Amino acid sequence: MTLRYVLLGDPVDHSISPALHRAAFEAWELDADYAAWSVVSDEVEKAMRHPDLAGGNVTLPHKLRAAAALTRPSGAVRATGACNCWWRLADGDLAGDNTDVGGLGFALERLGFDPRGARVLLLGAGGAARGAVHALLEGGASSVEVLNRTAARAQALRAAVGGEALRVVETPDPGAAYDLVLNATSLGLSASDPLPFALDRGRFALACDLVYSAGETPWVHHARSLGIRARDGLDMLVGQAALSLKCWFPGRAPPVEAMRAAAVEALDTRAR
Ligand code: NDP
Repeated sequence: MTLRYVLLGDPVDHSISPALHRAAFEAWELDADYAAWSVVSDEVEKAMRHPDLAGGNVTLPHKLRAAAALTRPSGAVRATGACNCWWRLADGDLAGDNTDVGGLGFALERLGFDPRGARVLLLGAGGAARGAVHALLEGGASSVEVLNRTAARAQALRAAVGGEALRVVETPDPGAAYDLVLNATSLGLSASDPLPFALDRGRFALACDLVYSAGETPWVHHARSLGIRARDGLDMLVGQAALSLKCWFPGRAPPVEAMRAAAVEALDTRAR
């Protein structure tokens, strides 16, 4: 019987997650499939409990909703209040994890960036930002400053994730230098979006965009044009997908390079 996994989100058309997971199933020669389902908030839990599904992933804007539906949340879900990966246990319970946390760790490691002692500016306060804050604080960042359009949402993030090193700011400290600036807003998903934040030369050592696209994202292009080292969200996407596979199929090594190649191909196809 084919094992079925899905991505739940709204919208999901832009997602290349099906391509990554199908590449992994093919490399493993596993009878499994991965589809994308567009669902509204009120249908998230019902979809997670769908009898045909073994598990899946959750993307914007449903990660908090998915966390609330779990009967067995992981430590990362409890710490962030956000879930991007779930699976059904033999007794029917829903287990879930936040693999965005480890996915960001995977991406930063590939960049050779060690968060220990780092000063970080984080743009955004949604589900992805919660995972990023947790990953950075667990990794030993000395300070994470959260800047979000809606201040109340940034305060809610602070209340949920906590920690003395976490501050909500309305504007970055003008004199400060940051080791990392991270875009965890959804700005950049659409070509007509404004930049999430205008950088200036010399104050930011590394810029990471969680958004990904074929070629450079506009914000990565902006950063590089100023001589700032920058990377888009593709490594994180591959990392969180690989960690999701480890949750669903413990003991198997995800074929990371095949997944990355499938992701690049899917992005190129989408751009054409
Ligand atoms: P959410 O919907 O939970 O949060 C969206 C965030 O973007 C909020 O902080 C929101 O601010 C901000 N935002 C949206 N529109 C605007 C705007 N016009 N101006 C300023 N800020 C805006 O989404 P997620 O946190 O789940 O995802 C955020 C991004 O991260 C998405 O692009 C997603 O694709 C990407 N992502 C990438 C991953 C990867 O593996 N590379 C993994 C997870 C996410 P406000 O609170 O004011 O509404």
